[in-house]
Amino acid sequence: MPVVKANAYGHGAIQAAQTLIQHGVTRLAVFSTAEGVVLRQAGVTVPIVTLGPVFPQQINALFSYRLTPVVSDCSTLESIAQHAASQATRWPIHLKVETGMGRLGLSERELESVINTQKFPSSLHLEGLMSHFADSDGPDSIATEEQLRRFNRAIRVVVDGGFHVPLIHLANSGGVIRVPSSHFTLVRPGIMLYGYHTLPSTVPAPDLQPVLSLTTHIAQLRTIQPGGTVSYNQTFTAQRLTRIAILPIGYADGLSRRLSNRGHVLIRGQRVPIVGLVCMDMVMVDVTTLPDTTIGDEVVLIGQQGNERLTAGDIAQWAGTISYEVLCAISPKIPRLYHPS
Ligand SMILES: *Cc1c(COP(=O)(O)O)cnc(C)c1O
Repeated sequence: MPVVKANAYGHGAIQAAQTLIQHGVTRLAVFSTAEGVVLRQAGVTVPIVTLGPVFPQQINALFSYRLTPVVSDCSTLESIAQHAASQATRWPIHLKVETGMGRLGLSERELESVINTQKFPSSLHLEGLMSHFADSDGPDSIATEEQLRRFNRAIRVVVDGGFHVPLIHLANSGGVIRVPSSHFTLVRPGIMLYGYHTLPSTVPAPDLQPVLSLTTHIAQLRTIQPGGTVSYNQTFTAQRLTRIAILPIGYADGLSRRLSNRGHVLIRGQRVPIVGLVCMDMVMVDVTTLPDTTIGDEVVLIGQQGNERLTAGDIAQWAGTISYEVLCAISPKIPRLYHPS
């Protein structure tokens, strides 16, 4: 069950969903009801599981667009059950149990009350049972093993309660790669689909290749004298005669302002530094070492150019974050172009 939330980690939810389905995927996960509606309106017909919370005002859309909710609390279970009572068949839901993430999910006691009292709503079909790892990409697997033990206890509670639950799922990308005993009947890979992982280097990981490149073009070039400054608040002062390229991409496009005077881009196969503060729609780079550069030259922010390569992981390091955030920050206003492999 691939995870295509957050616009498929910035890659474009509709195209990602369609491509995954072409490759044999039969069920998708998103975060919100709204994300599920977007996929349905684009013609996606496979079951779509919404991982996030469901508010009462979203329940109509949930049913109209045939979305499968993850239910993490008793009051949501009740309101979905009420709505499902007017449906022709039992409505599929997945229950989420809390095993150590400290986020959404039924506690052990809540699960027992839902399962054991035989009060489970007859309008609902308990199709799935799930939880979520907090530290599957951590330096060791101690917390992950404990979550796995708690999840197995929850499965026991449900089985002993007389339920047959067809879909049992726990593993995110870290779990997929590192914890085979967490695979059960479904896995929920997200970041690894897009060619990244955040596992420690000591863990053997598959050779994943980033599928996304982010490029722009040089809009203007200018030469500034020693002592000249670049961008807002004069945080960069030229020490020599300096050639500056102006690029039409900025923090409104998802290029973090934390890359100011820190990040690099590729031009003509060379790494060149960002100088000055990243602006809303523009950023400047120092191309003094590339005298042949001209207006219109391709600029790579993520991807390969010549023998050089930049990844979302590189940007994440400069900006003090993780590849996940770099990818989902890429604004929907940037056109996505898809190349069949
Ligand atoms: C985002 C998410 C995933 C996918 O996580 P990755 O680390 O990107 O593989 C899986 N399950 C849930 C509940 C999530 O929220």
